[in-house]
Amino acid sequence: MTAPAPIGTDPAAAALDRAVQGERLDHAGIEALYSLPLPDVAAAAHHLRLARRDPDTVTFLIDRNINYTNICNVGCNFCAFYRTARQKDSYTLDYEQISHKIRELEAVGGTRILLQGGVNPALGLDYYTGLLRHVKANHPTIRIDAFSPEEVLFMEKTFGHTLDDLLTILIEAGLDGLPGAGGEILEDDVRAKAAPARIRSEDWFRIIDAAQRRGLYTIATMVIGFGETYAQRTSHLLKIREQQDRANREYGGNGFSGFAMWTLQTEHTRLHGKAPGATAHEYLQQLAIARIALDNIPNIQASWPAQGFKVAQSALYYGANDLGSTMLEENVVSAAGGHGRHNATVRELVRIAVDAGFEPAIRNSRFQIIERPDVTAILGRDDANPEGDRAVGAS
Ligand code: SF4
Repeated sequence: MTAPAPIGTDPAAAALDRAVQGERLDHAGIEALYSLPLPDVAAAAHHLRLARRDPDTVTFLIDRNINYTNICNVGCNFCAFYRTARQKDSYTLDYEQISHKIRELEAVGGTRILLQGGVNPALGLDYYTGLLRHVKANHPTIRIDAFSPEEVLFMEKTFGHTLDDLLTILIEAGLDGLPGAGGEILEDDVRAKAAPARIRSEDWFRIIDAAQRRGLYTIATMVIGFGETYAQRTSHLLKIREQQDRANREYGGNGFSGFAMWTLQTEHTRLHGKAPGATAHEYLQQLAIARIALDNIPNIQASWPAQGFKVAQSALYYGANDLGSTMLEENVVSAAGGHGRHNATVRELVRIAVDAGFEPAIRNSRFQIIERPDVTAILGRDDANPEGDRAVGAS
């Protein structure tokens, strides 16, 4: 694909031109992109997406989110998921309840669980290590990506191990990856207002850095809509890019496998009516700017749980090359609003990719393709019936 034509000589347009030519933008160059018309930024982002990943393919993962406890003592203002131990609907899952959920995932061909929870002070280290061992012993084909930096920080402070020793203990028990949840905006001014007790950016990067050094899977995350400035969003992206450079340089390329971003959901939270949130336009703008700025992270995810299927599908032309995962259940974003869906079927994600003009592929959590689904069989379309069951009510 040829690069979009130069669109002008003002500094922002010039920065966009330079990015399209493959130049890395600095803080001023990235921040300037927010002033440009969205179609121009989108065209550049899509051009770079086609250059950085297989231009024909959109990937997704078959997995399940399992939130092992909703008891949490961090109390983020933007969280509608957590409970105190005294609340009637607080819970901590036992190993058999978790196994039951994994069996449902295995039945639909899933390959990994995203295992995360609140910071529950009643849990000892043996709960976590026992859980990892239980899953490995009973579900040997399931990959375990577990615990956000917030949970790891709690374990580090509570159980008397150094971070490296703690990671060794968790890895030996079965941990495969340490997802990058809790990134939000990695600027402490923003974090202090949204969640005073939340993990600070320095600790988030310290834990992610240690995980990457140990060869664990991680992804970078971003949430917009707290009222953060464009300069703060830019700083967030640059910190992630710097960490990725470090991982590429020092950890044999074991940096972030991908980048996922979504918009703040505030239903049932203390931030409702206080934080501005972000519109679909802002989401697509931020996604496109992330694609342009993060020249060392090839996989950019569209977020259907927060944005809905239709905006997520549009995001495939704003820099995204991946639809995230089926999830089977999602409890954290959906507790604060989301789009009313806690899961996606394989058929839905296949249709979103195909109707947008891409070939769907099922991947693992490292973004390696493990299967090309049979689109004809899944969508019921063939030469005689090219529209398949594109009928009222078809999903
Ligand atoms: S976002 Fe996580 S750390 Fe914050 S209150 Fe919710 S469960 Fe706890």
